[in-house]
Amino acid sequence: MTSAADPRVAHGARAARKSHSPEWLFCLRWCLFGALLALLAACGDTPAVYRLEGATMGTTWHATLVSHDGAGYDESGLSSGIAGLLEAVNDSMSTYREDSTISRFNQSPVGEWFKPDADFDTVLAAALDIGEKSRGAYDITVGPLVNLWGFGPQGPVNGPPEKTVIAQTAQRMGQDKLEFDRNSGALRKTADLYLDFSSIAKGFAVDRVCEWLEQQGIHDYLVEVGGELRVAGRSPRNDAWRVAIEQPDSEHFDIANMIEPGNSGVATSGDYRNFFELDGVRYSHSIDPRTGYPVAHELVSVTVVHPSTMVADGWATALTVLGPDAAWQVAQAQGLAVYFIQRKGEGFESRYTSAFETYLTATE
Ligand code: ADP
Ligand code: MG
Repeated sequence: MTSAADPRVAHGARAARKSHSPEWLFCLRWCLFGALLALLAACGDTPAVYRLEGATMGTTWHATLVSHDGAGYDESGLSSGIAGLLEAVNDSMSTYREDSTISRFNQSPVGEWFKPDADFDTVLAAALDIGEKSRGAYDITVGPLVNLWGFGPQGPVNGPPEKTVIAQTAQRMGQDKLEFDRNSGALRKTADLYLDFSSIAKGFAVDRVCEWLEQQGIHDYLVEVGGELRVAGRSPRNDAWRVAIEQPDSEHFDIANMIEPGNSGVATSGDYRNFFELDGVRYSHSIDPRTGYPVAHELVSVTVVHPSTMVADGWATALTVLGPDAAWQVAQAQGLAVYFIQRKGEGFESRYTSAFETYLTATE
């Protein structure tokens, strides 16, 4: 028997972020999926599957939990457990909350030491590392520019900001202006910085939920927050989880490729999803801190597989900002597993790093 694909699961996970995918279609997919599972269950010998979902971080989360040994799960207990964890991540890392840890740091005076929670420190350390390795393309001090371009908590802007304002705003950026004492976990600004964890917090949230599920004795699952996901163990069809890489810009959900991530996180940055358009120009929500402008290149989708969803999420954004050539070099040099989709004329061209090969399924 060939390894059974479970594209409906992958569909759902990706469809959550597609602006042009109607909600009903997304629901329909899940309903069909549920109906199929019910049918299989009626045939006996089928694992119990629990599908939990909710809203968080301005997006949605989903968890598919599989019980292969007949053990029953407390669905509402697990659901509120997950919601509580996501709430805690938001309380720590959301710039959309005035009283979150990150917002309190952003409002704190220059030069004053600040002691955040442990989760915050974990994410900060990972982000600074990616910032260094991406040679400044990724920088969580990019917040003022993100806001200036209308992709932050204050909402959209009517048009591109003035060059002089962009230059002024850049003075308030640079991770070298942030002091982080890794031993104590305390940090302080040497300039009027504003941190933005939006590029990495969803991935961290996925990891948090997965760790907690493991503690609950659950080892077969797919957890997804806003399109970033992690899988472990076996799928409802008792084989490896399979995840679809979405073809950008397609009218309907089209698959560019299928992967089997094993026990890993999968994060995709796609600039065909989050942008605003003005006078025929697309402005992406990925901002290049080195220029002050949103990225404008042919790289439209970057998928990173990594044991840590947090790291995958951060790198997906970092590689998007680096652009096709530099991203390829950095990804190969760092040994990252990455699948790139680039615009080529009317169509698309894909390539993947050596470390990614292992995840591609035989059906490619
Ligand atoms: P994507 O999956 O498209 O990368 P994410 O949600 O992971 O999207 O990250 C996008 C967010 O990251 C932006 O909305 C912005 O808040 C932040 N961001 C934009 N540019 C950078 C950058 N160069 N470095 C770090 N964070 C960035
Ligand atoms: Mg990201």
